[in-house]
Amino acid sequence: MNINKIKEAEATHYMPVFARDNIALERGEGNCVYDTFGNEYVDFVAGIASNILGYNHPEYTAAVCEQVHKLIHVSNHYYTEIQSKYITRLCEASGFQRVFLTNSGAESNECAIKLARRYFKNHGGNKRILAAERAFHGRSLATLTLTGNTAQHEAYAPLPSGFGHFKYNDFDDFKSKLDDSVGAVMLETIQGECGVRPFSNDFLVNAYALCKSKGILFIVDEVQTGMGRTGKLFSFEHFGIKPDMITLAKGIAGGIPMGACLASEEVGTSFALGDHGSTFGGNPLACAAADSVLEVLTEGGLLESSAKVGEYFGERLAHFSKYNFITDIRGRGLMRGIQFIDKLPAAAIEGKLRERGYLVNVAGHNTVRLVPPLTITREQIDGLVAALDEVCASTNVM
Ligand SMILES: *Cc1c(COP(=O)(O)O)cnc(C)c1O
Repeated sequence: MNINKIKEAEATHYMPVFARDNIALERGEGNCVYDTFGNEYVDFVAGIASNILGYNHPEYTAAVCEQVHKLIHVSNHYYTEIQSKYITRLCEASGFQRVFLTNSGAESNECAIKLARRYFKNHGGNKRILAAERAFHGRSLATLTLTGNTAQHEAYAPLPSGFGHFKYNDFDDFKSKLDDSVGAVMLETIQGECGVRPFSNDFLVNAYALCKSKGILFIVDEVQTGMGRTGKLFSFEHFGIKPDMITLAKGIAGGIPMGACLASEEVGTSFALGDHGSTFGGNPLACAAADSVLEVLTEGGLLESSAKVGEYFGERLAHFSKYNFITDIRGRGLMRGIQFIDKLPAAAIEGKLRERGYLVNVAGHNTVRLVPPLTITREQIDGLVAALDEVCASTNVM
């Protein structure tokens, strides 16, 4: 199908919310995708940090196809062996005792919010939940309220109550906001959508200790940072902390819609029978996909090998600090951001990289985000670095 026809259907029928790039993707293989003209792109977007095994990964594709033939979906009214296999693997790998399976990041965070509120009620009161300014936790009304984007807040008012914000990476502000009304804190260790902004080690360690001392639940949104993205299975492992809850989605099932909310035994048993549910959450197809992803990561050795490639990625990108129109290079593992001065639009860099066969995307303030499949190779990273170097060297903004 011709791209103009595709674009026309979108313009006529889709709700006008997406600013799409001017290519239509048709298939993928390895760490590359191909457009309708057959052009190849090495994919540093990966469905936004979701296709962690790339495209047509042999074991993963086989596991998904096998499950499609057996059973795609049944109600959570029934047990399935694949769900029991997966939750056992996930809980063993994560060290959390309880899980609820969802279909997206927003739903995983909704579940965490509801579970926290249920926990507060069981412990005698209504409490507020705090998140960081510029955080991104999803687009449902409650997760949007936690998300620190106030422009969107006005558009969707009235918003649910019981939420508040603290300043990103500002421990004094954090401390001042933790009054008796607060029962839980949710944060991303690296804020993804706002441009790959890591919290400092000190902030996270101190914020965690303060929450622990006050009996405040510490919830880490690992939707983007989880599943090996930062070099550990979950990003909280870098800081020697043990959150009460984490939430997952994006990479959890390698591109099949899925999410999870994981909790300690104490917190995770706050729901009573019928308190929460989901039609599709944790269905057999999603569980088979997620089980295969986790198996490839932990038993197949991808977690270790991708952690090394992630370090290499950081070393190669550090080289770009020589360009005075690059203001910051941030991130960890295979989650990196390169920020440009305002005069040089990151969207223009994105376009020039696409012309050279590399997909990247823009996140947050004028920042190019790089979140490739965890199967990305050193050679493919070298290719991106060479292409970006060429783009930067031919850029004249000063
Ligand atoms: C993408 C993202 C979400 C929302 O996930 P959806 O699947 O789009 O609902 C929530 N939190 C973080 C940190 C994310 O990166």
